[in-house]
Amino acid sequence: MKKTTVFGLLFFWLLSVSAQKTILHCGKLVDTRNGKLLPEMTVVVEGNLITDVLKGYVSGSKEDKVIDLTHRTVMPGLMDMHVHMEDEVNPGSYLNKFTWNKADFALQGVNFAKKTLMAGFTTVRDLGGTGANISLRNAINKGWVAGPRIYTAGKAIATTGGHADPTNGFNENLMGDPGPKEGVVNGPDDCAKAVRQRYKDGADLIKITATGGVLSLAKDGSGAQFTEEELKAIVATAKDYGFKVAAHAHGAEGMKRAVLAGVSSIEHGTYMTEEIMELMKQRGTYLVPTIIAGKSTADSAKKPGYYPEVVRAKALVVGNYIQATFAKAYKAGVKIAFGTDAGVYPHGKNWLEFVYMTEAGMPAMEAIQSATLHAADLLGEKKLGVTEKGMFADIIAVDGDPTKEIKCMGRVSFVMKNGIVYKQD
Ligand SMILES: [Zn+2]
Repeated sequence: MKKTTVFGLLFFWLLSVSAQKTILHCGKLVDTRNGKLLPEMTVVVEGNLITDVLKGYVSGSKEDKVIDLTHRTVMPGLMDMHVHMEDEVNPGSYLNKFTWNKADFALQGVNFAKKTLMAGFTTVRDLGGTGANISLRNAINKGWVAGPRIYTAGKAIATTGGHADPTNGFNENLMGDPGPKEGVVNGPDDCAKAVRQRYKDGADLIKITATGGVLSLAKDGSGAQFTEEELKAIVATAKDYGFKVAAHAHGAEGMKRAVLAGVSSIEHGTYMTEEIMELMKQRGTYLVPTIIAGKSTADSAKKPGYYPEVVRAKALVVGNYIQATFAKAYKAGVKIAFGTDAGVYPHGKNWLEFVYMTEAGMPAMEAIQSATLHAADLLGEKKLGVTEKGMFADIIAVDGDPTKEIKCMGRVSFVMKNGIVYKQD
């Protein structure tokens, strides 16, 4: 062996033995893999990874940093599979489309990303924005700003006049004729092009609006908006480019078509029939419920002038349906991944979804699994969602025991993402 190689090895050995570990003493640790609450556990973190999970409170060497979470319940970082990081709906937000530039949305998103992370959500799927959500993801990954890991769809894909057509409600001088680049498609060729454009833009997944929606400036809130051929073209092209497809759907017909075409998740699922539940079980399609979005839009719709009239009428009808549908789908055995549609209600309140899920009959432990283990499965990310050796060190703690009092999910006192501590009360 050459002298330099020997010195090199010695150097790396010294570096590895002296590397500081972070040792978390956890009063209770949620074992999301097995759905169990483990008392008095130690989690060891080195760099951005969990390197050990041990029984009892184990102390390290002098150099190691011990964090006392002995009065807390510790679990993997929470994962919200449906957010809109750039935006937050309020009576003035419809005007922003005319007065704001992408940079405004991006900078607003910085604020929302931080709120989300501090609420214990260390991973999110951003299901549609101006495209600034791609820059926001990059800025977070570079460490320029604090926020969750973002898997973004960039701009969502709709048909002309469909839920995510960005020019709905514009006057004729401004309406133009947006195409695949802007996320508006008509026919299978456009569908393939729109998916390929998202690949070029740097998106992580594809979002389509398979049916009408509540907050768009259009009359229909639930009808089918893609043909079967169009859906097939979306899913097939997405597969080629390594994307999963998330489908917004309220009405049954558009939802069924999307499930049959092979999307990975149905968002909202409002008017899901028993037949669709069966199809989803057969295919392993996830439901991302967003109960809080339904409830909060129905509440806001009661305030005069909060929404444009065309939106208000839809919000009153659709809003309160979602929780009951979730209850039926859960009972039927449909796979559930936690998602809230944050941005439709104020960012950072994502935890309220846990309250609504348990209200609808899902045990607290399963609700937490839907926001960790199962969300990671939907993403196809093998190093997230469980606190085990070799996983990314995304770890949070809440003040209380969620299996006894679910509202403690709103009292997040510790947040670590990728081995870095962002919050420690
Ligand atoms: Zn949404």
